Amino acid sequence: IVWYTALLTATLAALSATTLVLLDRSLHTNVDTSLLSLAQAIAETVRRPTALGPGLDELVESMLGPGAAERFFRLLDPRGRPDPRLAPRDRAQLPLSTEALRNAADGHETYETLTLAGRPAPVRILTMPVVEQGRVIQVVQVAMSLEPVETARSRFLLILLGLAPPALLVAGVGGWFLARRALAPVDAMVDAARRIEAEDLSRRIETSDNEDELSRLGAVLNDMLARLERSFATVSQFSADAAHELRTPLTILKGEIEVALRSSPGEEEHRRVLTSCLEEVDRLSALVEDLLFLARSDSGNVQLTETPVNLASVMADVTPALHALADAAGVTLSVPPVPQLWVGGSTSMLFRLIFNLGENAIKYTPAGGRVDIVLGQHGADAELEVRDTGPGIAPNEQAHIFDRFYRSDRARGRGGAGLGLALARSIVVLHRGAITVESIPGAGSRFRVVLPLAAMQG
Ligand code: ADP
Repeated sequence: IVWYTALLTATLAALSATTLVLLDRSLHTNVDTSLLSLAQAIAETVRRPTALGPGLDELVESMLGPGAAERFFRLLDPRGRPDPRLAPRDRAQLPLSTEALRNAADGHETYETLTLAGRPAPVRILTMPVVEQGRVIQVVQVAMSLEPVETARSRFLLILLGLAPPALLVAGVGGWFLARRALAPVDAMVDAARRIEAEDLSRRIETSDNEDELSRLGAVLNDMLARLERSFATVSQFSADAAHELRTPLTILKGEIEVALRSSPGEEEHRRVLTSCLEEVDRLSALVEDLLFLARSDSGNVQLTETPVNLASVMADVTPALHALADAAGVTLSVPPVPQLWVGGSTSMLFRLIFNLGENAIKYTPAGGRVDIVLGQHGADAELEVRDTGPGIAPNEQAHIFDRFYRSDRARGRGGAGLGLALARSIVVLHRGAITVESIPGAGSRFRVVLPLAAMQG
C-alpha cells in the first residue's frame, strides 16, 4: 500500500508538472498573439498618417483596457526616438534594448519579458518595425502585463496543492480497502493453515467455487493435505501393525518361559522349551529385520551394492527350500531349467524375492495343486513368473496385497505377517524392476517380475 501511494503521488506530480508547463506556454502564446495582432493593427494605421493621434490610443485601449495606451504603447522612429506626434511626455518609458532595435532595423519583431521598475508583475514587450516599401518607417512598441498569467498560474498551483492531498488520501484509503478485500481470502487461508496440525489433518481450507487463483491455491493445498493425511495414516497404521506383530511372539515367549519356571522340568523339558523359545526369537529377529528393511527403503536409506548376480544360481539356491515346502503341502512344484541371466543387485535380496513369491504360491495353493516358477529372458529384462492353481485374489484385493501387513481375511491364521509381498516389491523397486499380479479368483494367480539385465549381458 505504501508503494501504491508513492506511485500514485509520483504520477500525480508528473501530471501536474506537465499540465503547469503546458498551461504556462499556452498563456504566454496567447499574450504574444494578442500583442502581435495589436501591433499589426497599429502598423496598419500608422501607414496612413491621417489616422495618427487619439485614434491609435483608442485602438490600444480597446484591446488592453483603459489607461493602457499611455503605459503600454509607444511609437518610435527607426532610430529608437519617441515619435513626437504621440504626446511623448505622457508615454511610458518602455525600455528599448539594442537588440530589439537592431532586429527592428532588420525588419524583425522582438518579444521580451522584462520587469519594470514599480510594477509587481513582469511585462511582455513586443517591438515591431513598420515597413513600407522595404523601408522601416516606424517602430511600434506594445506591452502587456503578465499579471493575469501569473495569477492564473498561481491559482492553478493553489488548486493542485489543495486538491492533491485529499485526492491522495482518498486513493490511498480506497486502495488499502480494496487490497484488504482482495487479500481477505488469503488471510483466511493462512489462519486455516495455521490451525491445521499433524494430529488434525482432516481439516480443510475453505474454498469458494470461483475459478480464480485463490480457490485453485486452496484446492491444491487441500489436495496436499489429503495426501499428507493419507501418508500419516499409513505411517501410524504401520507402527500399530508392527507393534501388534511383535506382541504375538513376545507373548508366546513369555508364556513358555513362565511355564518352564513354574514346574521343575528335567533336562529334556528344558531343551524343548529353550528350542521353542529360540524359534520365537528367530521369528522375532526376522520380523524386526524385515521392518527395518522396509523402513529404510521408505526413507531411501537402503544402499544397493550392485554386484553382478546370476539368477540361475539364485534359483538353484532357492528351489530346495521351496521343494521342501511344496512336498509338505502336497503341492507339485515345477521349476524348468533356467538360462544364465545376470542382473546387478544383491544375491540375498533376490533370494528373498523368489522365495517369498514361491512360498506364497505354495502356501495359498491347496493340496493337489500346482506351482510353476519360470525364469527367462524377455528383451533386455529378466522375467520371473510364479504361477499357482490356488484360490486367486479378488480384483479389489489385488491393489492392496503389496501393502505392508495387508492380509486377506482368508489368509489370516496361516502364519506370515503380511510383509512378504511388501518386501518383494521393495526389493524389485530397488533393482529398478517392476512387479505385477494377474489373478482369476478360483483359478489361480500369476505374479510377474521384470528386472533389467546387467549391462554386460546386453
Ligand atoms: P502373507 O503371505 O504373510 O499373508 P504377503 O504380503 O505375502 O503376506 O501376502 C499378502 C496377501 O496377498 C496374503 O495375505 C494373501 O491374501 C494374498 N496372496 C499373496 N500371494 C497369494 C497367492 N499366490 N494366492 C492367493 N493369495 C495370495
